[in-house]
Amino acid sequence: MSSSPPKLVLCVIDAMAPAMLERAIETGAAPVLERLVSGGRYVPDCVAAFPSVTPVCAASIVTGVGQDEHEIPGMNWFHRDEHRYVEYGSSFRAAQRFGIARQLTDTVYNMNRAHLSQHTPTVFERLDDADVRTAGTTYLMYRGRHRHEPQRDTALTRVASALMRHAVMGPRELFYADIFASQRTGCRSGLGMPGVRDRHSGCVSAYMVEHDLFDFLLLSLPDNDWHSHKRGPEGQVHSIGQADLQLARVMNAAGGVEEFLSEHAVIVMADHSQAPVTATIALQDELAELGVLGPTHPGRTTSSRPAHSPDVEPRIAVCPSQRAAMVYALEESERDAMRASVVALALAIDGIDLVMWLERDAHDAPREGVIASPRHGELRFAPGGAGGDVVIDPRGLSWSVEGALAAIEATVEGGRLLSPAYPDALARAWSALTCRTSGEVLLSAAPGVEFIDWGRQAHVGGGSHGSLHASDSLGALVLHGVPPPEPEPAQWAIRDVAPLVLRHFGLDGAR
Ligand SMILES: [Zn+2]
Repeated sequence: MSSSPPKLVLCVIDAMAPAMLERAIETGAAPVLERLVSGGRYVPDCVAAFPSVTPVCAASIVTGVGQDEHEIPGMNWFHRDEHRYVEYGSSFRAAQRFGIARQLTDTVYNMNRAHLSQHTPTVFERLDDADVRTAGTTYLMYRGRHRHEPQRDTALTRVASALMRHAVMGPRELFYADIFASQRTGCRSGLGMPGVRDRHSGCVSAYMVEHDLFDFLLLSLPDNDWHSHKRGPEGQVHSIGQADLQLARVMNAAGGVEEFLSEHAVIVMADHSQAPVTATIALQDELAELGVLGPTHPGRTTSSRPAHSPDVEPRIAVCPSQRAAMVYALEESERDAMRASVVALALAIDGIDLVMWLERDAHDAPREGVIASPRHGELRFAPGGAGGDVVIDPRGLSWSVEGALAAIEATVEGGRLLSPAYPDALARAWSALTCRTSGEVLLSAAPGVEFIDWGRQAHVGGGSHGSLHASDSLGALVLHGVPPPEPEPAQWAIRDVAPLVLRHFGLDGAR
């Protein structure tokens, strides 16, 4: 390896919008980030996964692959094998609809243990196998090789302490809310409440720096996303400043920013961005005539399956993920017919920008994806070079395309596909469409529009994310002490980061 510092911190600032980072730096609110940007490589357009929501993106960040491989398809999704919704916490009210206990169990345990594919190792697992000292603060994805028992002596709520009894496999040092703590740091997470989570991450990370406990640290600073949902993306100038304070605190534990940077490489990144929300779609209501399965609260025993459309037998599951949504056919035999019905209705709903589905061949293998716009018509596409016009996207992948390029505002110049309004559109849509756990129909909302969740909550007047559109898909990425790959991608993606981390420690970035 070159002269890069031996240790590496990967800091994820949830939803950090490039324009807001730049403004925070201009106003002097983010001196540490300013130092990293000026001394490193700043990428203002690192593209998220689609749906551009935290569970999907977090899984891509730690595994370096899309959901066609890692299999976390959304914030809310329908588990076909268990015939139930999985809800990772769209809102407190949404969690209540499915049962708080179930939501917490799915988010804290099942996401890593059961939902994240066993075939896609995380950076923690890869580095643990190579005896690198790994560490993580509270992050949705923590799967590693070291066993951690839940804390017995903290003030968890009654429901939480009754649930959080099981050990997990995580990085060598794991700090996860007040549930798991591999060291007695004296830091408290305040039950992981929004607004105080950054402080907990900063506190435990400073402790780890002081006691030299890691070579690789995933430092998660999630509060920016919460502020931005509430106050809109403009509110990020304040919350990025707060995140910067925690970075300073961690660096001061090494004696200051310069001292820290002489011993640590640093990657700071967003998982996705955020865009303002001014209107909502109640997809559950819009599709009611097809028979929508309602949330099933496992704690309540009712004689019949509770449907959202009480007079109609449930035939579809509706899964809002903020500015994206998925619809599943409940019966395999009705899949194609139901898909056609959902597509027809969805294309007529005000505020839906794109409707996507997968066409399969006679052997049920994916044949081509379709991205349909109510205004511009259908774009059909498939990876590789068979049939239609062959184009190369900015990441160097070739696609055959046919139909309305206008659906993703794309142009083709000299065989090169450009779609800046929908960055990395074909690869992201293909990954989502061919993901085993995705729905039959995927939806992306128009700018300004959000799907209400199952608790009927949205972020009107604030910000949100989830769509295929550039406005919430492009996050900030800063590399300091980590050389970019050669050749450097013309379009960076969050799935490029795990290979950078592995390569920093001398491991093969490609699996
Ligand atoms: Zn969010």
